[in-house]
Amino acid sequence: MKQAFNQRISSALTQRKQAGLNRSRTVIEQGNQSRLVVNGQSYINFSGNDYLGLASSKELTQAWQQGLSLYGSGSGASPLVTGYSKPHADLESQLAEWLGFDCALLFNSGFSANQAVLFSLLEKGDTLLQDKLNHASLMEAGILSPATMKRFTHNNISHLTKLLATSDHSPSLVVTEGVFSMDGDLSPLSDIAKVTKANNAWLMVDDAHGCSVLGNNGRGCCDFYQVTPDILVVTFGKGFGLSGAAVLCNHECGDYLAQFSRHHVYSTAMPPAQAHALSHALLMIQQQEWRREKLKELNQQFESELTGFSGAVKTDTPIKPIIIGETGAAMTLSVALKNQGLWTTAIRPPTVPTGTARLRITLSANHSQHDIKQLTQAITELG
Ligand SMILES: *Cc1c(COP(=O)(O)O)cnc(C)c1O
Repeated sequence: MKQAFNQRISSALTQRKQAGLNRSRTVIEQGNQSRLVVNGQSYINFSGNDYLGLASSKELTQAWQQGLSLYGSGSGASPLVTGYSKPHADLESQLAEWLGFDCALLFNSGFSANQAVLFSLLEKGDTLLQDKLNHASLMEAGILSPATMKRFTHNNISHLTKLLATSDHSPSLVVTEGVFSMDGDLSPLSDIAKVTKANNAWLMVDDAHGCSVLGNNGRGCCDFYQVTPDILVVTFGKGFGLSGAAVLCNHECGDYLAQFSRHHVYSTAMPPAQAHALSHALLMIQQQEWRREKLKELNQQFESELTGFSGAVKTDTPIKPIIIGETGAAMTLSVALKNQGLWTTAIRPPTVPTGTARLRITLSANHSQHDIKQLTQAITELG
């Protein structure tokens, strides 16, 4: 039955191609900044998540280099063996203090942090309530977890309230994102926290796109709404300009995750040099308010120049979706923009619901007003 796998693979690939949903990876020759080079051609990059422009900052590169000189390349082991060193511990306490939690626990990615929390916390008979638009890492973990998962309509408090009321007093965990990655809208965290608390449930917030960008000092969505969830996940691949993630929670929960979450126990700790660089990224986020100011200005410019453009959605974040609808049309617009040296990505189902294919445009503090002008002009002309 060796052919079964080959057959499965080729039929899945064929189906995907026929549906026009095939994806491919593009080799970026120089990138990681507001310009990227593909096949020798230069583009303005409106597709990254490096909102504050840290990924290509010389200052941050130097911090990582300094970390390498101080601590060498790899961590050498998982955290419970010998992989946990001073820069990890320092970063964890800086994050905990900054975000107002007892403790922080580092993970190698946001994907693994989300899986770690859901897999180690949930048991059979528990109820897991997730916003329908939550990230794939949360959805997959929820489906594979022993809990009963229900999804509430996006940002819909009354649906969430109804589901909480029917959860039969089972231990319940509500999970939402702070900023939704494909729509750029915020979760109504004050209301979500209120109903969650009223129903004795726990609240977990994944603030991958909010932390560093929103809130006082860049503390993210929970600070913006003055809400303290039971569990907060922040990731370092977006505004922090690096990679990795942390889970913030109380002491006992942190200890529990450190003991029982397999992603923590059985995975090699991130390189100490990376933790060192992350501490520096945190410092930059705290001290370089101009990056958030610049983003705000570009945001206003973008919105005012696209006022009245059909499909352009106003958001309070650097994620600016332009909903096109049909996959083919979204692809065509994205290609036309690329021909003008503007790199935008068409996001298609199954990443977003059918009929809502879109351009997901992202702004960065590294963009100039001229960059934005070029983009909005091109979109207006092509649209
Ligand atoms: C990107 C993202 C993740 C995954 O984080 P990685 O560090 O890239 O694995 C998790 N949740 C949300 C909401 C994200 O946008």
